[in-house]
Amino acid sequence: MIISMRLHATREEIDQVRKQVEHFGYKVHSIEGEERVVIGVVGVGDVTACMESVEAMPQVEKVVRISAPYKFVSKEFRPGRTRIRVNGSEIGGGEFVVMAGPCSVESEQQIMRAAEGVARAGAKILRGGAYKPRTSPYDFQGMEVEGLKLLQKAKKATGLAIITEVMGDRDVEVVAEYADIMQVGARNMQNFVLLKALGKCGRPVLLKRGMSGTIKELLMSAEYIVAHGNPDVILCERGIRTFETETRNTCDIAAIPALHELTHLPVILDPSHATGKRSLVPALSRAGVAIGADGLLVEVHPAPEKAISDGAQSLDLGQFDKMMRELKPYIELWRDSRKSESAPLAAR
Ligand code: PEP
Ligand code: MN
Repeated sequence: MIISMRLHATREEIDQVRKQVEHFGYKVHSIEGEERVVIGVVGVGDVTACMESVEAMPQVEKVVRISAPYKFVSKEFRPGRTRIRVNGSEIGGGEFVVMAGPCSVESEQQIMRAAEGVARAGAKILRGGAYKPRTSPYDFQGMEVEGLKLLQKAKKATGLAIITEVMGDRDVEVVAEYADIMQVGARNMQNFVLLKALGKCGRPVLLKRGMSGTIKELLMSAEYIVAHGNPDVILCERGIRTFETETRNTCDIAAIPALHELTHLPVILDPSHATGKRSLVPALSRAGVAIGADGLLVEVHPAPEKAISDGAQSLDLGQFDKMMRELKPYIELWRDSRKSESAPLAAR
């Protein structure tokens, strides 16, 4: 349930509402806003009685029951967009943010070349896995802490922020020491122990959609992170598994506007894992911009033919630079549409 207070409600009036809610056995989870305060309430109990009682209080403007199983990530809870600031960029606002870099951190030379190349082309965030979820236990599992240190070095040299995957709850602390954004991979979308730990990690989280995860399940997983204390969650469509074999995964492009209708969280597209083929990445990236994604997560390698993982879907630096130049006019249109969205009605 969400309680909207009247404009300029006082601290005492808010406290009275809190007491009333607690009297019915519910818990106030969050209080947001300054001029107009919105109170998020969770729990189990006689919801109708509680709503009627709170609605009767003079300081309360409106009480809304949230029917979706996810609450804090829903549009009903926050009608606007959540903007997440990372190292001078803002994801979910008026800027289309590109995150790029290799699938895995492989060596100092590789990550430094990748970082310099993607920064020059206009990316703001460097990706690179130090902990890798691999289908085979015999494949390269990542450089772990050594890899995190190389990412830090690349950040220092280029000013790029870092996004890197965290695979287990025991690694949250060490990854948070080096990462600006914690990536949860598709295979971990429903690792609830990890999601709960990320609620307390103090860093934004990029949550990838599971290979067979529905949109509702993705939102429920995001709800875990937010309900455990971290409001900064970015969702990522990276393709789902279907009967189609021509592409590595099937990109559910409609999931992006569908998510934007349901949630205030930013939604980005990973065109690399969604296709598995570098030749398809530029076209899908254009589609991501056109459909209103908040950004992209793209695999780029200085020498894709030598990549230890995901070489076939990685762009080289020249191809990435070309793609970024070709995306420019689309991003201009994207920016205009974001601007008109936030302009007051009379000015349109
Ligand atoms: C990755 O980003 O390299 C990765 C492992 O992606 P996903 O979890 O989407 O498969
Ligand atoms: Mn990869």
